[in-house]
Amino acid sequence: MSRTFLGLPVRRGARTLPDDVGRPGGRGTSAGAGAASDAFGDVPHPDAPLRWGDTFPDAARAALQNTQLRRNLAHATSTIRDKRAAVVGEVPDWEALRDAGSAIKTDVMARLPELLEELERNVVARGGVVHWARDADEANRIVADLVKATGVDEVVKVKSMATQETGLNEALAAEGIAAHETDLAELIVQLADDMPSHILVPAIHRNRAEIREIFLARMGDAPPDLSDVPRELAMAARAHLRRAFLSAKVAISGANFGVADTGTLTVVESEGNGRMCLTLPETLITVMGIEKVVPTYTDLEVFLQLLPRSSTGERMNPYTSLWTGVTPGDGPQEFHLVLLDNGRTDVLADEVGRAALHCIRCSACLNVCPVYERVGGHAYGSVYPGPIGAILTPQLTTSSGGMSGHHDPNASLPFASTLCGACYEVCPVKIDIPSILVELRAREVDADRGRPTGWGAAMKAASFVMSDARRFALAEKAAGLGRVVAGPKGRITTLPPPASAWTRSRDLPAPAKQTFRDWWRDRPDLATPPADPVVPPQDRSALRNDPGFAEPGITPQDGPPPGNDPGFGERGEDR
Ligand code: SF4
Repeated sequence: MSRTFLGLPVRRGARTLPDDVGRPGGRGTSAGAGAASDAFGDVPHPDAPLRWGDTFPDAARAALQNTQLRRNLAHATSTIRDKRAAVVGEVPDWEALRDAGSAIKTDVMARLPELLEELERNVVARGGVVHWARDADEANRIVADLVKATGVDEVVKVKSMATQETGLNEALAAEGIAAHETDLAELIVQLADDMPSHILVPAIHRNRAEIREIFLARMGDAPPDLSDVPRELAMAARAHLRRAFLSAKVAISGANFGVADTGTLTVVESEGNGRMCLTLPETLITVMGIEKVVPTYTDLEVFLQLLPRSSTGERMNPYTSLWTGVTPGDGPQEFHLVLLDNGRTDVLADEVGRAALHCIRCSACLNVCPVYERVGGHAYGSVYPGPIGAILTPQLTTSSGGMSGHHDPNASLPFASTLCGACYEVCPVKIDIPSILVELRAREVDADRGRPTGWGAAMKAASFVMSDARRFALAEKAAGLGRVVAGPKGRITTLPPPASAWTRSRDLPAPAKQTFRDWWRDRPDLATPPADPVVPPQDRSALRNDPGFAEPGITPQDGPPPGNDPGFGERGEDR
């Protein structure tokens, strides 16, 4: 089929799969069949990989009770953060690279239809076949039919977010086809009958002792004396996977990039499992989100520098595989590219939200997010967790009835952020995630406007108090009573409803002894504007951090300027 479907309506209606698909033994695999226990699975396999479970606040509350999870996450994310910071710091033109990545992505979004058609022409010219899938069901149907046409009932898979998003493994299992994940972390998640909780490190919520238990219970050929030494675990998985690689006739992959002007597809990975899948089988099927297209081969120069440093904290990917159509006598002799929409054209139509399609899935924003670090990925109820999930998931599901008010669990996702801005600072393609979060929050509030809610009542009360100086001053005085409730520790741990919604999950610091107004009243000299030249706003934060700079009118004995005072709730307070 040769047509672009940009602008065509996306098929509506939730996907449904049989309840027993993928069980036991994990998401459509034959591995571990017979091990019927669900003891490892943190999350039951959802019918809809972009919308499962409770709302974020409820799921986060439950996740916060899991101290082991928090320990695993804190260790893993801090390790990756440090590695990233070190290798990014080595690149003198890092900011210029980010600008280039952002500019290329903006250009791609501006002419997506023509680039996709160019990609299709070049893939076909080199012997490949291109399929267009409007939604997850269509993509899964295309892949299942292609696999069945080869006559096999087993496939190997390279780690792929696009096929996670469509629930491909479960759909294949329903057709009697077993899909074997070959990425080590994906294998762990699959054997555990679990869901991934991180874009790059799907089993980040597991420590090595848990992984050993999973291998012993679910990987039939695991050595009985397996220890939890990482090398031993990796060797056990290697031996297990080697058999699958050598017998597989069909492989399924995602793609990091698809190059329009050559028809070249790209997969980057760290373990070599991808290289095995992409070269050994006779048939290769690649499922790629339509936003992954880049205009020219030389654009890869930018992304292949940005991606490894931002994702695994490496200077370059250990394995970068590129292929163009089919090459007689070398590699797969049949190549199919499935271009997946699944809500992306709706996101593209949104002038603010479309920047979410710039994402190159590096996961740097997850690793720096204070919210993600505490609750983990499962609380987001989507295969896309963390800051990027909070802006991408609700938009992808809009066309199937999402983000239309309080009844949709995904409507709570844009609120899963402190708006500290750390995600924007590390994003290699400069997606302004905080601004999109604020926009999506506004839309969600607007969708519920008129309906009586606790939030609405609180906002009305705040508006009543804050719109009158005397009322506000009285409220400030009343808040001072909080110091009595806080006691000597200075923390308020319990409040009556509706304020209990806050103290259920966190303490409230006691109000300051002196209000800002009192502080201001004690400093009449500050009321006179300084005669100094005006400093442009964008230069002020740099000056604040300059030890030689004194904020006009604030002397050292006054303490730090408000922007650096943790009491003002600036970025970093809750990190
Ligand atoms: S939003 Fe940016 S930082 Fe987050 S995964 Fe995507 S590219 Fe990486």
